[in-house]
Amino acid sequence: MFNSLSEKLGNIANKLRGSARVSEADLDATLREMRMALLEADVALPVVRHLMSEVRERALGAEVAKSLQPGQVIIKILNDALADLLGGQRRDLNLSKIPSVILLCGLQGAGKTTTAGKLARLLIGQGKKVALTSVDATRPAAREQLQVLAGQVDVPYIAGDGASAAAMAKSAVKQAGRDGHHVLILDTAGRQVVDDELMAEIREVAGAVGATERLLVLDAMTGQTALQIAEQFHSAVNMSGCILTKTDADVRGGAALSVAHSTGVPVRYVGTGEKIDAFELFDPQRMAGRILG
Ligand code: GDP
Repeated sequence: MFNSLSEKLGNIANKLRGSARVSEADLDATLREMRMALLEADVALPVVRHLMSEVRERALGAEVAKSLQPGQVIIKILNDALADLLGGQRRDLNLSKIPSVILLCGLQGAGKTTTAGKLARLLIGQGKKVALTSVDATRPAAREQLQVLAGQVDVPYIAGDGASAAAMAKSAVKQAGRDGHHVLILDTAGRQVVDDELMAEIREVAGAVGATERLLVLDAMTGQTALQIAEQFHSAVNMSGCILTKTDADVRGGAALSVAHSTGVPVRYVGTGEKIDAFELFDPQRMAGRILG
């Protein structure tokens, strides 16, 4: 897994290390090995292609072939290309409107509900008045789970009225406004897979409440399918960011790269464990370092 990627890249570096001169053919052979190592680390093919052409261009520009430690130089180039791809345009959450609505979407089990609690706790720490709501119209258990979490984090849970998710969302936003909350974190229904019904519902909810932030919650272990998932949610709600969960269980970083590549939308936060405080700002340099080992 992750170890094999760093090991492989280490081996590639060793092969080049010490060579007085490296030909362009050596460089291409190295890039081919790098490509294999990234694919084995679950980085999606279009992302690997993008990275390899980027690295090749930069490596030729930097005259890696003539450098004393070509292995080191080329790995540094890959590290920078990864960090650039992951960096996106970083900015704080847009919470200027009162109430600001943060819509969380994603597949079932991705960690949306847990993340709603974590985000609430983080924003309370920044002095915001926060409330939580779930608009899962068909699964009362999902709404109850968030309600319990709201109690644990000590923020109000708002139960929106209405038969549809969009109606519930509208009513919850009105209530949040009446109660003077700065931020309403809105948890949406998830499904096992992306389907048209789910996408239509989320689009409707996002449109009904004018959410200032529309964040995809994505399991870091999603692997190759992360690319399609991110694309589909992005086309439904024009995502403003992504939260990558379970990075404690998966450090390969393939999902983060896929999101950045397919949507250009930045990863904002990462979940680093099941506990409510296991939540951090995303750091592109650190993630690039982790991917390379
Ligand atoms: P939802 O269906 O998207 O609302 O997912 P849940 O919030 O119910 O989370 C699904 C499972 O993932 C639960 O067992 C959570 O404890 C777990 N989980 C969520 N975030 C993280 C994380 O960052 N790290 C780990 N290890 N587990 C997480």
